[in-house]
Amino acid sequence: MKNLTIRPINTGFVTTIPKQYLYHHSTAAYLKDVPDTRIEMPVFTFLVEGGDSLLLVDTGMAWSERAGKYHHPGSYQPEGLSIVDQLKKIGYQPEDIDIVVFTHLHWDHIYYMEKFTKADFYANETEYQFALNPIPLYYKSYEHPKLYENAAEKIIRPFEGIPIKTVRGETEIVQGVRVFETPGHSPGHQSVEVDTKDGSYICCGDSIFILDNINPIPEIAYDLTPPGRYADIIATWKSIELQKKRVARPELLLPCHEKNLLERIKKTPVLGV
Ligand SMILES: [Zn+2]
Repeated sequence: MKNLTIRPINTGFVTTIPKQYLYHHSTAAYLKDVPDTRIEMPVFTFLVEGGDSLLLVDTGMAWSERAGKYHHPGSYQPEGLSIVDQLKKIGYQPEDIDIVVFTHLHWDHIYYMEKFTKADFYANETEYQFALNPIPLYYKSYEHPKLYENAAEKIIRPFEGIPIKTVRGETEIVQGVRVFETPGHSPGHQSVEVDTKDGSYICCGDSIFILDNINPIPEIAYDLTPPGRYADIIATWKSIELQKKRVARPELLLPCHEKNLLERIKKTPVLGV
């Protein structure tokens, strides 16, 4: 097994109403301590070091103005939290990144792509095709040009004109880093498994928003707590089940929007050391 390390990097905060987004409405009666108000959730990317290639899982969200104006209102990227600024803080330039693997192509996972001038970008084939031609419900998520056709200000989606290599099924990207399909949140979502000394971590993207999504609800015989936002709830459910089975221990699951990861990285900024 390859001994890679993973550095979780939070790129800002997206606001959301948990009971609409993070938890399915059928679970509402069984949720304890979940507020009814809007909350801020982090948006993690993951830097994989220690291999022959420097690899990034997702590139994170946009700057405050773009995030708050075009996406969830009130979302923001504090000064210095863009993926580019944070890589610089730990001693890397964006051109040092060899490979970027996208879990999916929603706006908060793909910003600043143009800065990674030397990187190969990977996404799932189904995801890429849907991102190019989504149903109107998902125009905003993928920043589809049709939405801005008649707008005063034309915005350009981050992957416009940038080549993306596509993969299908389970694929080894480099030694110790595999993608496997976890559809449901989006049609071609994939998770990224990384081999470290701790075991194999899974960067879940949005296939598991937060760790609460893996908890069973015995009262209604649910083996997990489904999210409220999805493209396909059956696929979403099966993708969560698959990852629960695949991972050796729950602490090896790294969901993109898990708030507790902010505390965890204060003590352990690099996982798998
Ligand atoms: Zn998403």
